[in-house]
Amino acid sequence: KNTLEDVDAEENENDDADPAAAAALTAHEKILVTRKKLPVYPYRDEFLAAVKENKVLIVVGETGSGKTTQIPQYLHEAGWSKIGKIGCTQPRRVAAMSVAARVSQEMDCKLGQEVGYSIRFEDCTSESTVIKYMTDGMLLREFLNEPDLGSYSVMMIDEAHERTLHTDVLFGLVKDITRFREDDFRLVISSATLDAEKFSAFFDNASIFMIPGRMFPVDILYTKAPEADYLDAVIVTILQIHVTQSVPGDILVFLTGQEEIETCVEILNHRTKGLGSKIRELTICPIYSTLPSDMQAKIFEKTQEGARKVVIGTNIAETSLTIDGICYVIDIGFCKQKSYNPKTGMESLIVTPVSKAAANQRAGRAGRTQPGKCFRLYTAWSYEHELEDNTVPEIQRTNMGNVVLMLKSLGINDLLHFDFMDKPPAETLMRALEQLYALGALNDRGELTKLGRRMAEFPVDPMMSKCILESEKYSCTAEILTIVSMLSIGSSVFYRPKDKAVHADNAKMNFARGAGDHIALLRCYNDWVETSYSTQWCYENYVQVRSMNKARDIREQLEGLCERVELEVISNNDVDIISKTITSGYFYNIAKLTKTGEYKTAKHQHTVYIHPSSVLIKEEEPAPWVVYHELAFTTKEYMRMVLRIRKEW
Ligand code: ADP
Ligand code: MG
Repeated sequence: KNTLEDVDAEENENDDADPAAAAALTAHEKILVTRKKLPVYPYRDEFLAAVKENKVLIVVGETGSGKTTQIPQYLHEAGWSKIGKIGCTQPRRVAAMSVAARVSQEMDCKLGQEVGYSIRFEDCTSESTVIKYMTDGMLLREFLNEPDLGSYSVMMIDEAHERTLHTDVLFGLVKDITRFREDDFRLVISSATLDAEKFSAFFDNASIFMIPGRMFPVDILYTKAPEADYLDAVIVTILQIHVTQSVPGDILVFLTGQEEIETCVEILNHRTKGLGSKIRELTICPIYSTLPSDMQAKIFEKTQEGARKVVIGTNIAETSLTIDGICYVIDIGFCKQKSYNPKTGMESLIVTPVSKAAANQRAGRAGRTQPGKCFRLYTAWSYEHELEDNTVPEIQRTNMGNVVLMLKSLGINDLLHFDFMDKPPAETLMRALEQLYALGALNDRGELTKLGRRMAEFPVDPMMSKCILESEKYSCTAEILTIVSMLSIGSSVFYRPKDKAVHADNAKMNFARGAGDHIALLRCYNDWVETSYSTQWCYENYVQVRSMNKARDIREQLEGLCERVELEVISNNDVDIISKTITSGYFYNIAKLTKTGEYKTAKHQHTVYIHPSSVLIKEEEPAPWVVYHELAFTTKEYMRMVLRIRKEW
């Protein structure tokens, strides 16, 4: 009983209604039964026929209908994988990993064999991979090596409604491919929202395939007055639901980011402990992009009898991941969003109100399996008057340096006339070109230079790849690779338990010894290498073992790429030389100390502050000049990862 059809024949016997028959099924057979219950299943044959007919097909279906997990399998079962791989892009790395894991289970194979995934710095595929999930950014990179996507028979651009920068750029590139590739290629664009007309119009009036959803009504409840402290309101609401709502069913909470989620989990753990055994058990599961994968898997585990699960996550759970059994949604009405000012070239992460469309997606998560409730921790008035209808596509609020460098490497020179679904602001394109020119990646005619070509090989920001290549001149490539790897982990290297904060801070300051955060990262890594990658050493120094292993892995890959561009990895431990090399890539991010003790950016005189987590925050004598890795806006505009530099550099 290895395929959908085999189990099909015995449908009635294996129904849930007959527990004895259900118990007789193997785990894999149970999965096949579950697959058949998904809303997309009755449309399988119709869908496959539509794919055959149409070179481009737009698929629309509610979150949870089975688009991401089932469609690639249907295509595989129908033989498309005999012509080439079936690819499926995801805007988020967590989704790519988790969905691939699920599908490999459904296909009863080891992850990385027939079913695999590819995300930045992590390729979990092999020769035998026929269904490949990947982030949209990774597919964009694949274009550099395979501009016609020749090894694929079908490409599914999933979660198209998210309109991430990479997905938007892919639209233009894959549209071109469908025009020149023969009958051996199909494009599927899938989206969870109903306004598919826009996608259809962009893809030369492509057909739209609707998967009718099965939605239950969701009661929407607002607060009477705005909440002063939404985190506190979240905790109170969770506990109220848990204690007062007799309907069993899990809770899904939307917060803005990792730190907030961790704080919430901590407080909740503390509060529920105090409640004793009088109430039912509450299983608390966080979910955010850098959460280790074994902990990510926890959100999908079936809730124990009598207990209730509360999943606390970012907007990952809005449409990218479907968690069964959710019946209550708590929506704070905010998310963390990138914002970009093309005039100043400043990019920042800002906590922003969500759009009405996003708020409605969030509410919809409560009504997948039964009628549900959505608690909006804002007023009905704010929903009506303060939320935008739709989220602005990322392409209109981000720095495009990286993407422009990639498009230039693909030989696309006329960016102003590139086929964008929604054009980026002309100023943003100009700013990207200017920045790449300043970095030396483009010449004064806007053409790619040899340096630019080498920079494009590295899957990191142009400012970072510039540092790597510039390190050749200063013979400190080994050190720069380490710093770049440590900065690319995506999660924090150092941890800081509340009861041992002083010890943790001291350990970190010890690495820095007066130099900045970049140097602290470098010394931390080097010390760890000297202990032969000791785990014990990590514990003693308040360093995350997992982050370190990740950095080591990234570093190895970057070293491989250095070989490709014929860059010899030489070591030079001089702090000044290393800081100078960092400055050569990050000169846009220079700030100067003012008399009042705050910093102003060199280019636009914008006031910024050193982030409290920086090793430079405690310096008795503040550095007169610094270069920072990135800006983050929370209560103030903060510089994260700060390095002391000299004016003359
Ligand atoms: P869509 O893409 O249409 O939103 P999916 O294909 O992601 O839908 O989800 C279909 C079903 O697969 C859902 O019921 C979901 O709960 C289940 N599912 C997806 N990923 C996992 C996972 N990692 N573990 C268990 N179930 C999963
Ligand atoms: Mg999906």
